[in-house]
Amino acid sequence: MLKSLYYIKNWMVRRLKSHNIVAIATANGYAGVGIIRISGIDALEIAYQLTHHKTFTPRLATYTKFYSSKGEVLDSGLVIYFKSPNSFTGEDIVELQGHGSPIALQMIVRRCLELGCHMAEPGEFSRRAYLNGKIDLVQAESIIDLIHAESEATAKGALKSLHGEFSRQINIINEQLIDLRMFVEATLDFPEEDIEFIANAKIRDKLTILVESMEKLLSNTTQGVLLNNGANIVIIGRPNVGKSSLLNALANEDIAIVTDIAGTTRDIVKEKIIINGIAFNIIDTAGIRDTTDIVEKIGIERAFNAANSADICLVLVDATIGVTASDTSMLSSAPATIPKIFVHNKVDLLDSTTPANENLGDTHIYISAKSGTGIDTLRTEILATIGFDSNNSDVFIARTRHLDAIRRSVEHIHLGFHHWNNLEILAEELRYAHNSLSEITGEFSSDDLLGEIFSRFCIGK
Ligand code: GDP
Repeated sequence: MLKSLYYIKNWMVRRLKSHNIVAIATANGYAGVGIIRISGIDALEIAYQLTHHKTFTPRLATYTKFYSSKGEVLDSGLVIYFKSPNSFTGEDIVELQGHGSPIALQMIVRRCLELGCHMAEPGEFSRRAYLNGKIDLVQAESIIDLIHAESEATAKGALKSLHGEFSRQINIINEQLIDLRMFVEATLDFPEEDIEFIANAKIRDKLTILVESMEKLLSNTTQGVLLNNGANIVIIGRPNVGKSSLLNALANEDIAIVTDIAGTTRDIVKEKIIINGIAFNIIDTAGIRDTTDIVEKIGIERAFNAANSADICLVLVDATIGVTASDTSMLSSAPATIPKIFVHNKVDLLDSTTPANENLGDTHIYISAKSGTGIDTLRTEILATIGFDSNNSDVFIARTRHLDAIRRSVEHIHLGFHHWNNLEILAEELRYAHNSLSEITGEFSSDDLLGEIFSRFCIGK
């Protein structure tokens, strides 16, 4: 299986070499400058014909005119040549910087097509970079995550992955896994009892270290996925408890974006706020809460359905009143598995005595959306509840695909640990764990997966 994937990769690399690609790399629209990229074995030759120049020095900008087949000037600008393998794709790349006129850029692209280029498919530059070993899959994916980042923290996380931090952590564990696999296989081949006895103790030690590293990687990746995808909060609260005020206080200076979920516009409102770089989709039950209990319950159920998988539920209550029967009734419609925080608002209206917890089993936070008391504590509690360590400044960006692969890998390692004294089973589980982990960086990845990942790119990337 792995062997055939290896052949597929080689075949694709060979096929790539046979054609040159071109695309406008800058965003579509009017701008000061527009950039076209050509990648492939004839990129330089195509640039010569386009500009009537006879030489370009690598990495040096040359001012030139771009000509049509009839010798008309299409535009003027800069040419920068990146000689293989020192380019983004690893192939010869020529970057043409013209004016940001969509028409002028298209005329140049058309000329490049006449000169033998193919229009690049979405993500084809990054795909070539991956196939030529310039970047791994995680790095390729982080390019897109960087482009689409909605907060500074997400952009920083994407850069960390792009610069190889995530891959580095995976590769360290991969090495531990390879080391352990070799040790287990060697012990299997020389089954004398004394050696096996010593070896088993060693294997246990190595497994313990491996499990620790994997748990750390799992936690970092979970945080990376939260940074990338955000989290869903459902807010439950009776009218006038201060829900809008709380949202404003939580969002701080960040803009709250209000979007309606299609088809449910009258019942459920979805807003987005950013807390310490994490985007939270807020799903609240506005609009249905003044109605009867039954309708309200349906609304709450719908709110949880809309959230698809809510990560956390805030139960907002008026601190001067406490948790009421109506709150308890609303809560009975919420899935039991979702972590809940009871938020007692308007503590500024209370006298100095701290109110007693309504229910010691749950988390209760006391705040004033008006004065700001307790808002920081609430932010920290929300982040901690979803598993995000706000003191960790090293979070790299990750995707659900990565998390799934790590979880599978962890599962196999745990199974292996369970059978640590049955070396054959252990060896098999370690092999599975290793394969799952290798999928992440793309060491062993199927063509389907590659197609799926790169098709989401924009053209010119
Ligand atoms: P919602 O209906 O749950 O969205 O509640 P609002 O945010 O609109 O607040 C309802 C009322 O409570 C408004 O008059 C707010 O000014 C007031 N309010 C909200 N939070 C606080 C608070 O922490 N302290 C006090 N004293 N009033 C608050």
